[in-house]
Amino acid sequence: MSTPQAGEAGAQRAEGERSSRKLDVAAVRKDFPILAREVHGKPLVFLDSASSAQKPRVVVDAMSDLYLRHYANIHRGVYQLSMEATQMVEDARDKTAAFLGAADRREIIFVRNATEALNLVAYSYGRHHVERGDEVLVTHMEHHANFVPWQVLCEERGATLRVAPIDDRGVLDLEEFEKLLSPRTKIAAFTHISNVLGTINPVEEMSRMCRERGVVSVVDGAQSVPHQRVDALAIGCDFFTFSGHKLFGPSGVGVLWGRAEILEAMPPFLTGGSMIESVRLEGTTFADIPQRFEAGTPDIGCIVGLGAAIDYVEGLGLDAIQAHERELLAYAEAKLADVPGLSILGTAPQKAAVISLVMDDIHPHDLGTILDREGVAIRSGHHCAQPLMERFDVAATARASLALYNDESDVDALVAALHVAREMFGA
Ligand code: PLP
Repeated sequence: MSTPQAGEAGAQRAEGERSSRKLDVAAVRKDFPILAREVHGKPLVFLDSASSAQKPRVVVDAMSDLYLRHYANIHRGVYQLSMEATQMVEDARDKTAAFLGAADRREIIFVRNATEALNLVAYSYGRHHVERGDEVLVTHMEHHANFVPWQVLCEERGATLRVAPIDDRGVLDLEEFEKLLSPRTKIAAFTHISNVLGTINPVEEMSRMCRERGVVSVVDGAQSVPHQRVDALAIGCDFFTFSGHKLFGPSGVGVLWGRAEILEAMPPFLTGGSMIESVRLEGTTFADIPQRFEAGTPDIGCIVGLGAAIDYVEGLGLDAIQAHERELLAYAEAKLADVPGLSILGTAPQKAAVISLVMDDIHPHDLGTILDREGVAIRSGHHCAQPLMERFDVAATARASLALYNDESDVDALVAALHVAREMFGA
């Protein structure tokens, strides 16, 4: 089977995680053809990776290679193409298991996205363990994907949803989180990194608190895996979820990691083909994990693309990526401090490069539109975190989020565009 060629940053990849070299951002940028384009006659400055990241050529090439040379449905075929496609999907499972530090490749379930992974846990585990009078604990900084499924579960089961508070910097009140873990708590679900505040939660400690009380812990890793090394076993949680598209992979694939002993005891979420052991008129028995949770034909191309995306970030080195983004965040914070009338929502000491901006007298949507005219792509809105917006008494923010391909010139362009907005609004 052919493997797509490495991109411009290939030499650096060879060094990989062992390298203490800095990320060569100029080389990385060449791996992402879209970054060379213009919008409204200005060079594109892409600052919306927290929503969805851009794709390196190697990801697109891996998907093309599958579709143009190896494509067939997986798992059921005895012919060469089907076996090749199956192998490519199972290779991606191995890569994902290694990427998350999983002990067992069967613990990797491919789903559509983080939202589906969280729903899978809420439906399959939640509906079989949460009873009337029980409690589920979340935090006040959750994305709706890690809030609504638990709220709906609690409403259905007559359980209570508890919400751990955060302070004005956006730091979780860990003491309160621990206190809220009551003898009735069955599940605690919390984000690794907030998609609005950038807060990095102490998920190891939170998972330990859960484990000591027999509470199942679910970590939403949608915002962490693109930016730092993650080891699910070291975190000590029971479930970990993420989406491929934020990790420079395609949209259409996400991952649920769960401890084998818990997954093995869970009933299926979706039923149908590919997830059965045998089907008779009298009843059906189900396949072992992971197939039990992968009903129907999966997005084969996206899974292969995810495998390539994992190779890509592993090749650059997650530590190098994290160090680069830390430096860039510090640079951005210093530059943004000089913009009059601008405040930043989310100032936790442990913070990733997600910057939620609130500008006096300019609505975030207006700000987003003006910045777009300057070529700067940011996201405006509630970022699927309405309870968090309420907590800070804002309807929306303008969010700039940085990734491995951003550099200081992107931050400078953002700051220049903010000044343009101020002048337009006379702010
Ligand atoms: N969790 C967090 C923290 C997110 O930021 C997002 C998406 O923005 C999600 C979950 C949901 O991801 P998806 O829409 O890919 O399911």
